[in-house]
Amino acid sequence: MAKKQFKAESKRLLDLMINSIYTHKEIFLRELISNASDAIDKLYYRCLTEGDTGISRDEFCIRLEADRDTRTLKITDNGMGMTKDELEKNLGTIAKSGSLDFKEEIEKKDEIDIIGQFGVGFYSAFMVSDKVSVLSKAYGEDQAYLWESSGADGYSITEAEKEGCGTEITLTLKEDTDDDKYSEYLDTYKIKNLVTKYSDYIRYPIQMMVEKNRLKPGCEDKKPEEQEYETYSELETLNSMVPLWKKSKSEISDEDYNNFYKEKFFDYTDPAKVIHTDVEGIVSYTALLFIPGQAPFNYYTKDFEKGLQLYSSGVLIMDKCADLLPDHFSFVRGLVDSQDLSLNISREMLQHDRQLKAIAQRLEKKIKSELLSMQKTDRDRYVKFFKNFGLQLKYGLYDGFGAHKDMLKDLVMFYSSTEKDLVTLSEYVSRMKHEQKNIYYASGENVEKIDKLPQTELLKDKGYEILYLTDDIDEFALQMLQEFDEKEFKSVSAEDLDIGESKEEKEESEKQAEESKDLLEFMKEALEGKVSEVRLSGRLKSHPVCLTSKGGLSIEMEKVLNSMPT
Ligand code: ADP
Ligand code: MG
Repeated sequence: MAKKQFKAESKRLLDLMINSIYTHKEIFLRELISNASDAIDKLYYRCLTEGDTGISRDEFCIRLEADRDTRTLKITDNGMGMTKDELEKNLGTIAKSGSLDFKEEIEKKDEIDIIGQFGVGFYSAFMVSDKVSVLSKAYGEDQAYLWESSGADGYSITEAEKEGCGTEITLTLKEDTDDDKYSEYLDTYKIKNLVTKYSDYIRYPIQMMVEKNRLKPGCEDKKPEEQEYETYSELETLNSMVPLWKKSKSEISDEDYNNFYKEKFFDYTDPAKVIHTDVEGIVSYTALLFIPGQAPFNYYTKDFEKGLQLYSSGVLIMDKCADLLPDHFSFVRGLVDSQDLSLNISREMLQHDRQLKAIAQRLEKKIKSELLSMQKTDRDRYVKFFKNFGLQLKYGLYDGFGAHKDMLKDLVMFYSSTEKDLVTLSEYVSRMKHEQKNIYYASGENVEKIDKLPQTELLKDKGYEILYLTDDIDEFALQMLQEFDEKEFKSVSAEDLDIGESKEEKEESEKQAEESKDLLEFMKEALEGKVSEVRLSGRLKSHPVCLTSKGGLSIEMEKVLNSMPT
């Protein structure tokens, strides 16, 4: 039978897979297992909606079988199977979104290392195989078909024999090279390992015949040195099927959560906070979220990708679903599992899903309330959290023209001149003097420098608390916020500080200014082009002179603006 050619774009992807220099070739197994699981889902769903299909839930399974003599690895399922047309359509073209996403991403980034993040699909089998055979019989059909391909030169489909519906995929593994030991995929230990790593929550048992040792029958009563052992084979289920987040909370220890987090998200520090929540409603879901104990090394760079894992009833549909997290909480890691996300949902469609939006909104509120409660009940932990991720919260205040004000204003902290520590805005307000109208702040490079500014001296002397702003974003964030609890923010270098000068004081300073008019004018001329005005100030204590700015911007802020590329 003549070989058929792959469609052009499939061929490109296939070439990519075959010539992949990618180190995570092992993900092929995850892909084939999740396809098997999808196929069982489809049939199971059909059982549910159309009534009897003659199969009961507990007969569904995925089998793995390795044969060293033939160098083959088989992945078998008793799911929907594929008709001849479907074999052609599904395996001859990149029809499916997972592969499509991948392809586009590759083109965009020109980078091979991202394969692991995507469902790369069926073609990943070619990363490890010289030849791939797919024997499939669709549910409700009598004829089975065999799809075979040795790679880029095309594929063939022939009639074949198969009992029962489902699909059996046989991989003939490539020869080992110095760099790649493909034969390790025939190794029971390795296979078990890969299943627990990638496919542990597949809801159907993934089974394999495993060789084990046991006492020979009749040996039980013998002395230890006389006991004899024999090997035997037993069908073993390799995956745990019930994911941690589906267990009842009372069964889960802190250590379970911490280990789960560290393994799944490749962190070596315990999370600062675990949020495990079940929500029933228009959209029901379980979320297991973690606030990392430290910022990832690339957190404040372009390389960092936010997102939560998205599962549909225990099956991973997306590894980093960005739409589930607002930017200001992008540090949160974790997952969402919802049975309400439709079963065969396409990954592309998903981004526009209304249900996702609803989940995202609730998660945002939940994260905020958990952070607030940490702030109240475990101050040290919160401060540590804030040192890791506070910058992001402050960017969030500024972002979107203050659209996230209400979400974030209670979460941000600034260094306080009186407390010598980070404080929240409401703490500041609670300590304000009776007649005080403004929240005072001063900007500078660091706390020590700000503390020595002539502008802070007077306010400190009069016993006002000042917030010291040391991050470039701080002042912009406060400007965006405009007020907190109806108190306006005021820079210590603002012209009018509102600190209740008496009538006499005012008259006195006006008089002095009048008297010094010529001197000030002379100074201004001498500094022409450097300053716009020279004034007498009633604010200076031990310093002879200070620089100040006109309007809403402080000198620090002007510096930031001037340093920005235009
Ligand atoms: P995706 O899983 O993202 O759809 P894949 O490349 O993994 O993309 O698979 C392509 C298509 O091939 C699947 O959508 C499915 O229709 C079909 N398919 C793959 N494996 C199986 C299987 N074991 N049983 C039935 N259909 C399968
Ligand atoms: Mg797939």
